[in-house]
Amino acid sequence: MTTIDASMRSVEIQGTTVPRLGFGTWQLRGRDCVEAVRDALEIGYRHIDTARIYRNETEVGRGLAASGVDRADIFLTTKIWPGDFERARLRAATEDSLRSLATEYIDLLLLHWPSDDLVLEDALGAMVALRDEGKIRHLGVSNFFDGLLRQALDLAPVFTDQVELHPHLGRPKLVELALERDFMVTAYSPLAQGKVARDGTLREIAEAHGNSTGQVALRWLLDQPNVSAIPKASSHEHRAENFEVFDFDLTAEERARIGARPEDRRRTDPWA
Ligand code: NAP
Repeated sequence: MTTIDASMRSVEIQGTTVPRLGFGTWQLRGRDCVEAVRDALEIGYRHIDTARIYRNETEVGRGLAASGVDRADIFLTTKIWPGDFERARLRAATEDSLRSLATEYIDLLLLHWPSDDLVLEDALGAMVALRDEGKIRHLGVSNFFDGLLRQALDLAPVFTDQVELHPHLGRPKLVELALERDFMVTAYSPLAQGKVARDGTLREIAEAHGNSTGQVALRWLLDQPNVSAIPKASSHEHRAENFEVFDFDLTAEERARIGARPEDRRRTDPWA
């Protein structure tokens, strides 16, 4: 059963409550990353997103420790990169991530991108085994669509599909499927990597509410059931601004205007 709590700050997926607004850490490195994660947790974020390929898991782990926030109160995601999808490699990579993050468990482990070396049954089977041992709490996928996503959903309890999703790239069918099959759609690049700031429609709506275009983009995402969003920001000001998205409401008409943007303006494709 999927429910959204009254304050909209969290969503319950497969019986687990997840804070809907997370903090993304791609491109944060070194001391900046440690400080960004510590600061995000101080602001109130309780959902942190990293990946092995970001090469910052050690710093994310240090940020978690420096914050003093109880590990049990944090929802932590990391991702396995293609090349490590074979059973033994996936296990070794996860154990390495646990050491780097200095944590006893990962809340959500994702297959980062589909690839030629992926044998879905094996990779998902390896993740289920890790879950049964308590090393991860949930498993999921990222950048999976259509047939492959449905295959994964039929094979294992996929908790999330993390995909590029923002006002320039809506995914109503995926959100519908998420509701039907009880998984979360995690919106990455929710600010279209900063491009929402130059969007005239968003600016008009933002001005009417006395908010920023980024806040409107995030609110539009979080008004969709089962969707969480993981904006990244390098500065405290941006991190704090992005966290303030629950104290205003978009009208149905505003949501429809934002949802009517041209689709398929992707920003991320590592194979391009
Ligand atoms: P994003 O969050 O859409 O945008 C980040 C950009 O927006 C940065 O340039 C940031 O600038 C700017 N920004 C943030 N807050 C702002 C504000 N309040 N006002 C103005 N500008 C603001 O893009 P993203 O980093 O691509 O995506 C977010 C996270 O999603 C990543 O960090 C990563 O964790 C995840 N991700 C996952 C995948 C995947 O394949 N699964 C792919 C891409 C990303 P400053 O940094 O200067 O603040």
